Amino acid sequence: GLFPGGLGPQPADSLLALIGAFRADRRAGKIDVGVGVYRDPQGRTPVLRAVKEAERRLVAGQETKAYLGPEGDAGFFEALKPIIFGDADHGARLVGLQTPGGTGALRLAAELIARFNPQARIWVGEPTWPNHHPILQAAGLEIMAYQHFDVATQRLTFARALDALSRARRGDVALLHGCCHNPVGADFDMTQWRELAQLMRERGVLPLIDLAYQGLGRGLDEDAAGARILLETVGEGLLAYSCDKNFGLYRERVGALYALAGEAAAAGVVQSNLLALARANWSMPPDHGAAIVRVILSDPALAADWRTELAEMRDRIRGIRALLADADPRLAPLRGQQGMFSTLPLTPQQVARLRDERGIYMPASGRINLAGLTAETIPTFVDALASLR
Ligand code: PLP
Repeated sequence: GLFPGGLGPQPADSLLALIGAFRADRRAGKIDVGVGVYRDPQGRTPVLRAVKEAERRLVAGQETKAYLGPEGDAGFFEALKPIIFGDADHGARLVGLQTPGGTGALRLAAELIARFNPQARIWVGEPTWPNHHPILQAAGLEIMAYQHFDVATQRLTFARALDALSRARRGDVALLHGCCHNPVGADFDMTQWRELAQLMRERGVLPLIDLAYQGLGRGLDEDAAGARILLETVGEGLLAYSCDKNFGLYRERVGALYALAGEAAAAGVVQSNLLALARANWSMPPDHGAAIVRVILSDPALAADWRTELAEMRDRIRGIRALLADADPRLAPLRGQQGMFSTLPLTPQQVARLRDERGIYMPASGRINLAGLTAETIPTFVDALASLR
């Protein structure tokens, strides 16, 4: 036959395999810290109240499902701007479009980079979200590494990151997690953001900011502070945004790509390229999730309710971090980290032992989702970790 031709089999997604193994485990008291989504203390990933209400209004009021356009929902795109960029008014220098999730935004950003500068190399932190490399490689970009965190000591290696980025060429791009780093939870502080931004400005390195967890770290403004410093200082940049975690909309695939250019004329050219790339990829993004976000953000009462629910998610994650830090001094660094994820300094063998001996599930990297724990399961979890030593 014609298939498989030049195709070789590809490895299955290891997180999906982990979910299957967890489900099949019959032990009472098993713990899943492998999952990549928020969970409440009952283990659910609920639909937010504000989302339910927005959906009711959409179902009642929507009169057509005719096509939008490759830019998606313009009201959604505008409504997010003050949340992301705060008071900064970038005017006609800021363009962009709705995308299928943060993933779609990253993919479009990568393709845009490959178009405007085929020689550009993209600097990616180590470690990073495992999907970053495949997305960037799919656009044909050459990837360079900067080491920004040491899992063994749970410390940022900021000097090493700066050192690596000081070797970037003019026109290179640096991918940075805006907040709540996945998978290590360690974010730069304001002094570090400023230093990094200054270096990138001097060397002509374009920031590509991945902001997928705004509001799940310290707060909406706090979590955007690094991105704002970068864009303000460098004056140009790309920002891939996801509403899938902070609105709990995961499967609706809600994201946006923002591009800040030096001048309005350049921004116009960038925008026409983004629209062309979108048409060649997905033509136009799905409507429902972005419409939900638009409805929420354009009604002050609904927006306030969303902020309350977001704060509940954030406080729960912070609470779990504090409980872990209090329970074992070796887990103390987790208190100062942000967002749903941290990566424990475990070997793949130790991860396998936790699964086999204790029914605790996490990927071989040692990444844990704090939202997979509760006050009730923390003693079991901490005890299991201690048993490894
Ligand atoms: N960037 C990071 C760091 C992520 O962790 C994720 C999702 O896990 C994404 C981007 C993509 O988000 P989305 O589900 O909106 O595509």
